[in-house]
Amino acid sequence: MTEKFDLIVIGGGSGGLAHAQRAAEYGMKAAVVESGPLGGTCVNVGCVPKKIMWYAAHHAHQMHLARDFGFDVSLQGHDWSALKSRRDAYIKRLNGIYESNLDKRDVAYLAGFGKFIDATTVDVDGTAYTAERIVIATGGYPVVPDVPGAELGITSDGFFELAERPQKVAIVGSGYVAVELGGVFNALGSDTTILVRKEGVLRSFDKMLRTELESAMQDSGIVLETGAVPRSLERTADGIRLLAEDGREFSGFDAVIWAVGRAPNVGSLNASAAGVESDAKGFIPTDDYQKTNIDNVFALGDVTGRDALTPVAIAAGRRLADRLYNGMTDRRLEYHTIPTVIFSHPTIGTVGLTEDEARAQHGDAVKIYATRFNPMMYAFSDDKVATAMKLIVVGEDERIVGCHLIGDGVDEMMQGFAVAIRMGATKQHFDDTVAIHPTSSEELVTMR
Ligand SMILES: Cc1cc2nc3c(=O)[nH]c(=O)nc-3n(C[C@H](O)[C@H](O)[C@H](O)COP(=O)(O)OP(=O)(O)OC[C@H]3O[C@@H](n4cnc5c(N)ncnc54)[C@H](O)[C@@H]3O)c2cc1C
Repeated sequence: MTEKFDLIVIGGGSGGLAHAQRAAEYGMKAAVVESGPLGGTCVNVGCVPKKIMWYAAHHAHQMHLARDFGFDVSLQGHDWSALKSRRDAYIKRLNGIYESNLDKRDVAYLAGFGKFIDATTVDVDGTAYTAERIVIATGGYPVVPDVPGAELGITSDGFFELAERPQKVAIVGSGYVAVELGGVFNALGSDTTILVRKEGVLRSFDKMLRTELESAMQDSGIVLETGAVPRSLERTADGIRLLAEDGREFSGFDAVIWAVGRAPNVGSLNASAAGVESDAKGFIPTDDYQKTNIDNVFALGDVTGRDALTPVAIAAGRRLADRLYNGMTDRRLEYHTIPTVIFSHPTIGTVGLTEDEARAQHGDAVKIYATRFNPMMYAFSDDKVATAMKLIVVGEDERIVGCHLIGDGVDEMMQGFAVAIRMGATKQHFDDTVAIHPTSSEELVTMR
């Protein structure tokens, strides 16, 4: 007989696990279908291993600075493969913790590929399961461009498989993954080039962040090639060569990394068997309550094509369970004022509207407060990395609609300010808050 659940979640990543576990806490009989390791992108090939690599790069910078503070430090290189072994073991432990978390809540773990048979039936590697509700949380995968020789490059997934650090590396892409991986390679000693199609990196971010990051990256030794659209890759005696559309050649690379975006994981899902519609790029649209065009089928996380971030997938998953199984009838994730951090070197923290967006929406009612300074950490250093901050306020009461930070420590600064801004903080609220001294964050409450 076909086993029946209250809900089946296809995809055991950030969003899927969060939803199934919350539903089970409310007494539902839940199942999670997962074809790979539990935890999804974030745990296995995203945020977690990425942050470990960021810490390695951060320690390299700190050791450099330590000399200025009187330490007798000499750096004898870095053992990439030892770090990889530790990182892999750490992630394996996390996979185990995720499995035991499912166990503790009596969530069934169905290992295999989930495929719709109809709107209430899912096939998992040949066995059919039914449920009243089905949630699609299958995430995404890194895109490889369709150019000759593309297979000579790797993606962010391949980055985490690198057993050794490539000596000379090209990263193709302008988004946060490109700048994060570029920062790691550069700090750990690789000759690093970032190639972008247009004029610069992070095009959807505030222009101050883009300009500051580009100049910090270049000061740190990263080569930024703009207007470089790849035409092909080829292997030569000298390494991998990238030929650009405009005829330029970039050569001698030990690794080329495609960081040109992500596509939804829907290939094996057979969602059309359930009547679920997707958009032109394959993403599955939902209403404000994560419902697809089919009443009992929901979608959340990266597969929906909105704000591809782990906490967004988790929040959408938990809120959906709160609404469906705990009587919180209007509970849903509001997709605005979502703070985010880029683990570049230096880090970026951002929330709300960019200056261009604010001016387009609010015209002359927009006022900008900005500051730029060298943190005290660089007091004795010749290689200073500036911190820059921008507050975007609107109207008579100077309500803060955007906050953009770049510099050391802003990754940990952003969360608290995001709470205040979401609560509707004005510039006056910031001015009335006594500064914490001596810190970089105090500059945010002392701007004039
Ligand atoms: C390099 C990188 C760095 C990142 N860094 C950050 C960061 O610092 N902070 C942040 O917030 N976000 C970060 N992200 C984004 C974050 O990882 C994703 O937004 C998040 O994992 C999305 O969660 P999800 O549940 O939607 O999908 P996923 O976590 O991708 O989970 C989807 C799961 O579904 C499974 N699956 C797919 N199809 C099927 C099927 N048919 N049957 C069974 N299982 C299936 C997949 O195997 C996968 O495990 C990063 C991403 C990358 C690639």
